[in-house]
Amino acid sequence: MFGSVVSKEWAHIWFHSPLHSARIPLSPYRYYMIRSQDFYAYALDHLAQSPNVQIEYGHIQGIQDAENGAHVQVNGQIRVGQWVFNSLPEEKLFLRPKVQYLKQHFMGWMVQTNKPVFDPATATFMDFRIEQEGQTRFMYLLPTSAYQSLVEFTVFSPDFLPVQEYEAQLRQYFLQYLGLQANEYQILEEEFGVIPMADAPLKARGGKHVVHIGTRGGQTKASTGYTFVNIQKQSEKIVAALLQKGVPFPHPAPSRFRLYDRMLLNVLQKQRYPARDIFARMFARHPIARVLRFLDGESRFDEEIKIMAKMPSLPFLRAGLDLLSKM
Ligand SMILES: Cc1cc2nc3c(=O)[nH]c(=O)nc-3n(C[C@H](O)[C@H](O)[C@H](O)COP(=O)(O)OP(=O)(O)OC[C@H]3O[C@@H](n4cnc5c(N)ncnc54)[C@H](O)[C@@H]3O)c2cc1C
Repeated sequence: MFGSVVSKEWAHIWFHSPLHSARIPLSPYRYYMIRSQDFYAYALDHLAQSPNVQIEYGHIQGIQDAENGAHVQVNGQIRVGQWVFNSLPEEKLFLRPKVQYLKQHFMGWMVQTNKPVFDPATATFMDFRIEQEGQTRFMYLLPTSAYQSLVEFTVFSPDFLPVQEYEAQLRQYFLQYLGLQANEYQILEEEFGVIPMADAPLKARGGKHVVHIGTRGGQTKASTGYTFVNIQKQSEKIVAALLQKGVPFPHPAPSRFRLYDRMLLNVLQKQRYPARDIFARMFARHPIARVLRFLDGESRFDEEIKIMAKMPSLPFLRAGLDLLSKM
């Protein structure tokens, strides 16, 4: 869909963990890298071609649904829209009782090295060989050349780490797994991000005239944090609903994937079983296409049964019972 903004793609990935390591061909799939500045430029350029679109920047103080439309309070003024598409984050929704909530937080460095240590033909999807410290921790690498890569240290946990801890983990990884001393690479760019992993029931319908989109609209997969592709799918459905019914409210599809996500999130949050071993089982025991379809919420039910059959039963049984007790 975003062919022109894909800056790199990979046909192979590495998966690493103490139990299982493999270089996996992705065919027929690809792993794509889209840089945010290219993505925003693409979207803004597209919008600039539509004379009926006006862009205004400001701090939104509130959104109220009303009979005649939705009212947005921005820059001290009220704007009224027939439809308001709202992606403002609202963490308080995750802090409610009974909501399972972990943060996926990560620091990434785009580095330039003075020797060829990366394989630009292979992205590292997850490297779980690092110390877990009672949490879920992994590295991922998106190499753009033998000398350059984005290296990202990722943690699933309730709280952030001190900044020095992310940096220390990255430096340790460069030393231990890439054989690079601190003076052998240069940090070109740094990023820090956080994605909520939560099972709060986030409804896309925010009122008569308000549509919740993006993470606010429940498009973040609770067990992995993946959001980008879901946002594209949600947008397509909204457009289709507008064209067919005149309202931007597609039918919410009841999803068994939400239940799987909640169970996995429970296992992770309660530390019932190490995430690295769960992912190792998935990658070691199933064809990659099945795993990717499952993680994308696109698998068939019989494939899901096969995946579940190879999971440790007790931790997931306990997770299921725990979820039942919260109903
Ligand atoms: C560094 C990073 C890497 C990621 N990588 C991936 C990935 O590889 N794959 C994947 O699937 N997902 C990824 N994600 C997750 C996901 O794709 C993003 O979080 C995505 O941007 C979510 O889109 P959104 O529209 O819901 O929220 P956002 O993009 O966060 O948009 C919300 C916007 O609201 C603005 N805002 C907040 N409060 C106000 C206010 N009061 N007034 C006005 N504006 C306000 C914010 O500034 C922001 O621009 C990544 C996220 C990050 C941060």
